[in-house]
Amino acid sequence: MGRIALVTGGTRGIGHAISVALKDSGYTVVASFAGNEDAAAGFREETGIQTSRFDVGDFSACEAALQEIENDVGPIDVLVNNAGITRDKPLHKMDAKQWDDVIATDLTGVFNLSRLVIDGMRARKFGRIITISSINGQKGQFGQTNYSAAKAGVIGFTKALALETAAKGITVNAIAPGYIATEMVMAVPKDVLDSKIIPGIPVGRLGEASEVARCVTFLADDEAGFITGSTLSVNGGQYLV
Ligand code: NDP
Repeated sequence: MGRIALVTGGTRGIGHAISVALKDSGYTVVASFAGNEDAAAGFREETGIQTSRFDVGDFSACEAALQEIENDVGPIDVLVNNAGITRDKPLHKMDAKQWDDVIATDLTGVFNLSRLVIDGMRARKFGRIITISSINGQKGQFGQTNYSAAKAGVIGFTKALALETAAKGITVNAIAPGYIATEMVMAVPKDVLDSKIIPGIPVGRLGEASEVARCVTFLADDEAGFITGSTLSVNGGQYLV
């Protein structure tokens, strides 16, 4: 098959699981990261997947990195917009930088990479763009006006781009995970997890990063060409859209 996939933020957490799942499914994978060189080195050693360091929020940096990746491994068939950050504060305490940083990474980053791969995908009449949104973009979350706005924004972006590309062999979809057992979530004290968070999840447990990755490989497949503009919820029944 020889398809090539770029996973942004692919060296840690959910992105790590996505990179590995795509590799195991036969893709040539490049995983990007922002600056955590130690995590990237460990990831390369463990998986043998190549990495690329750049800020998804900086268009010129994305352009330069993508040029290098495409020269090196070839054109991108599957883009997974996974890189994301949080800077939580209720709005009355949020400063402009906390807003701008989240919008730059979680929303503008999706524009930057999608814009840079779209011409090639259109020309080759094949592409898969999969963006990791969040349950908090669907239902809102206290302290996350920035994050909820960005994650809701990528769902609108996904629908609009799906319409623009449907006739070109390109599908554009979003995945909205709920609570996934990543480092960030596992840092929450166990009693809070057990008494407050898990009781709100009908399946009765946190999700696994591999369960999000499975959705990505499903949507990335050549056989998934009739699924576009959709948002796949992976939240254990916590929020039903
Ligand atoms: P992590 O914090 O574990 O990993 C984030 C990854 O994104 C890292 O590889 C990081 O690089 C990279 N990254 C961050 N900012 C940038 C940037 N500006 N440019 C390039 N790369 C960047 O994240 P998670 O695995 O927890 O989350 C992954 C995605 O899933 C995010 O979009 C998140 O919003 C979403 N999500 C997560 C949930 C969860 O329960 N964890 C639930 C719902 C959605 P580096 O290692 O260099 O910092």
